[in-house]
Amino acid sequence: MTLALARKWRPKNFAELVGQEHVVRAISNALTQNRLHHAYLLTGTRGVGKTTLARIVAKALNCETGVSATPCGKCTACVEIDAGRFVDLIELDAASNTQVDNMRELLEGALYAPTSGRFKVYIIDEVHMLSRSAFNAMLKTLEEPPAHVKFILATTDPQKIPVTVLSRCLQFNLKQIPLAQIRGQLENVLGKENVTFEVPALNLIARAAEGSMRDALSLLDQAIAHGAGKVDETSVREMLGAVDRGYLFSMLNALTRGDGPALLAEADRMAARSLSFDTALQELATLLHRIALAQTVPDALADDEPERDTLVALGGAFNEEDVQLLYQIAIHGRRDLSLAPDEFAGFTMTLMRMLAFVPVEPGGKIAANPSPGRPAAYAAGTRATDPPRSMEKSSQPVADARPIEAELADWRNLVGRIKVGGMARMLGDNCEFQSLQGDNIDLVVPEAHKHLLEKAYTDKLQAALGDYFGRKLRLRISTGGSGKTPAEIENQERQAKLAKAIESIDADPFVRELVENFDARVKDTSIKPVQ
Ligand SMILES: [Zn+2]
Repeated sequence: MTLALARKWRPKNFAELVGQEHVVRAISNALTQNRLHHAYLLTGTRGVGKTTLARIVAKALNCETGVSATPCGKCTACVEIDAGRFVDLIELDAASNTQVDNMRELLEGALYAPTSGRFKVYIIDEVHMLSRSAFNAMLKTLEEPPAHVKFILATTDPQKIPVTVLSRCLQFNLKQIPLAQIRGQLENVLGKENVTFEVPALNLIARAAEGSMRDALSLLDQAIAHGAGKVDETSVREMLGAVDRGYLFSMLNALTRGDGPALLAEADRMAARSLSFDTALQELATLLHRIALAQTVPDALADDEPERDTLVALGGAFNEEDVQLLYQIAIHGRRDLSLAPDEFAGFTMTLMRMLAFVPVEPGGKIAANPSPGRPAAYAAGTRATDPPRSMEKSSQPVADARPIEAELADWRNLVGRIKVGGMARMLGDNCEFQSLQGDNIDLVVPEAHKHLLEKAYTDKLQAALGDYFGRKLRLRISTGGSGKTPAEIENQERQAKLAKAIESIDADPFVRELVENFDARVKDTSIKPVQ
C-alpha cells in the first residue's frame, strides 16, 4: 500500500461521500435543475469532506456527459479533475501565501472563457486566511461573476470572512461525521484492502478521529503499519497511547478494592507522565457514566464498544449508589480543581474522597462477600483473617452446639445468619438483644429508630428467628439501648476503617502534607460515609 488510504479512498462521487447527506441533497438538486449558485461557502471542522465535496461539484459541472449530480468519472474532464490536472479547475490553499499573492492575476483569468470545460471552478481552501487585498480582489469577481465561473470556498473558521464576501455566498455547514459512519467506512476500506481487523480497534480509531474522516483514515494507515499489516485492538490502543484509559481503569479497580496506596501510586505515575488531572477527572466521570449505563441500561452500550467487558465488570463490582456518588465526586473534584493548592493535590484529594466513601458503603458489592446481605466492611474489618462467616457456620444452621442464649447474645452475628431482608432486616440491625425469658426474646431499639417498630417487620423478624432456632419464639421490643446495635457497631467500624485508610495513606511521605489537609476535611459532614 503505497498510496495513503485517505487519498486512495477519497470519495469520487456524491454516493461515496460519507456523512454529509444534507449538503449533498441540496447541491444534487441544484445540479439536476441546473440552478447552481455562483459561489458556495463550505464550512466545517477539518477532514469532514469540504474540498472533496468541492471537487465532486467541479466534476458534476464539467463532466462531458453533461451537468448532473452523477458525473461519469470516466471522461477526460472527470479523470483530469480526479488527477488534479484539469486546466479549468483552479485550486488554492489560502493557508500557503505563495499562491495567493497573485490573487488579482489569478482572478483576471476568470474573465476568459474556460479552456476545455464548461465552467472555470475556483476552489479556495481555508479562505479565511486570505489577506484583505486578496479578499477585495475576489469581491470584485463575486459582485459581477461571469456566467462561466463558479467559486467554492471552504473554511474551518467562517467568522473571519468579511461580511461582504459571506453575503455573496450560499453557505453550507458540513457536520462532524458520526462515529458509527466513520467506523463503517473504515470497515469498508479494510474489506477492500483485504486487511484483517478487530471491530473494537476500529471504534478506538473512529473515536480518536473526532468526526474527521481524513484523520480516521490516516490513523488507520498508522494502525496498519503499527500492527504489521493487521488492525487489532491491543496495538491500536498502544498506538493511541494518549487516549488510552488503562490508568483510569486501574484507579477504578483500586477503588473496588479500597486500595488507597494503589490509587495514589497511579496518581504519582500520572504526574510523572505529565498527564492532565483535569482531563483525568473528566474521563473518570465519563467512565462512571458508562458504568452506570452498564448497570441500569446495558443495551445502551454497543456490543462492540471497546471497553464493554471492563465496564460491565466494574458495573458488577460497584453498587449503583456508589457509581452515582463517585460520579458526583469526580464532577465536584474537577470543578474545584482550580481552587486546590495545586492540581495534584486537588486530584488526589478527589481520589481520597472516593476512597472514603466507596469501600465502606453498606450493602456494597465491593469485595466478594460470601455472607449474603452482609456488607463487605464487616468481613474486611478487624477480623479480616477469620474465615468467611458463611463457610464457618451457615452450612450447619440449626445444629449449632451453642445454646440459644449465646447465639442471641451475639446478636449482630445472628442477624447476619437468619433469613430476613428488607425492613425486617433493618429492624434487626437496629436492635440490641436484652434477654431471653422462656420463649420471649426481649430486644430494644433506639428512640431514633422506633419507626421500625411496625408489626409487619416485627412479625417477619420473629418468624425468621423461629425458623432459625427451630422453635416458636416471641419478640418483645421496647425502646432504649446502649448504642450497640449492629447498625451502630457497623457505623463505628466504618469510621475506624476510614480513619485507617487515611492513616495508611498518611504513612506515605509524599502525601503527608496532603493528608493533613484531608484530615481537616474529614470532620466536615461532607466526608462522612453516607448512611
Ligand atoms: Zn465525466
